[in-house]
Amino acid sequence: MNILIFGPNGSGKGTQGAIVQKKYGVPHIETGVIFRQNISKKTPLGEKAKAYIDRGELVPDDITIPMILNRLKEDDCAKGWLLDGFPRNLVQAEALWSALEKEKINLDYVIEINLDRDTAKKRIMGRRLCKMDNNHPNNIYIDAIKPHEHEGKTVCRVCGCEDLSTRADDQDTGAIDKRHGIYYDTKTGTLAAVNYFKDRTKVIAVDGSKGVKEVSEELMKKLA
Ligand code: AMP
Repeated sequence: MNILIFGPNGSGKGTQGAIVQKKYGVPHIETGVIFRQNISKKTPLGEKAKAYIDRGELVPDDITIPMILNRLKEDDCAKGWLLDGFPRNLVQAEALWSALEKEKINLDYVIEINLDRDTAKKRIMGRRLCKMDNNHPNNIYIDAIKPHEHEGKTVCRVCGCEDLSTRADDQDTGAIDKRHGIYYDTKTGTLAAVNYFKDRTKVIAVDGSKGVKEVSEELMKKLA
């Protein structure tokens, strides 16, 4: 099973990706993770990619495209893959499609998590981290996971701890806007890549404005 997953930052793509990965038992290949691993190991690829990533720009296609196409040839991908974070623009989409055609590899599904730009931004900025456990979901803008109010204080909705904080990059509106600018660009950006696949393979669109459980239920129904 070969799958692509798309969704703007803030759409819950990471969470849904993990659920899909579990369903099919295929490797979850995340471009951002591969870059970060290369940066921390100080590989030549990591050194080249770092400056772009630090500026919130895409790493150039001549670095990213071969890196991913080679990754898909590794042994663990023989039975399929879930690709997350690639393609991120139209050029990458075309390169992936022609590489798959050449190798006669079928692209089974493209998953698109839809969420409007304002809501995606609010979701990122509303995220609150619980000091006791980062997996306790709290978001001041999502009713289903809103932190609780207790004796005039905002506390973690799971454990009641008062120590809720924000992640610095979640509050960086410039960085969020830059990333979303690339994602929502229908001419050459990520949405252009999604649209490219619409008349080539099965694109499954889900409404990302719902809660995690509802989104995953809709997704599983459509994937079945
Ligand atoms: P992510 O963790 O997916 O948000 O990726 C982190 C950063 O890695 C992005 O902001 C880009 O700088 C870079 N990156 C990830 N995927 C790609 C891609 N497909 N093409 C170019 N750069 C990418």
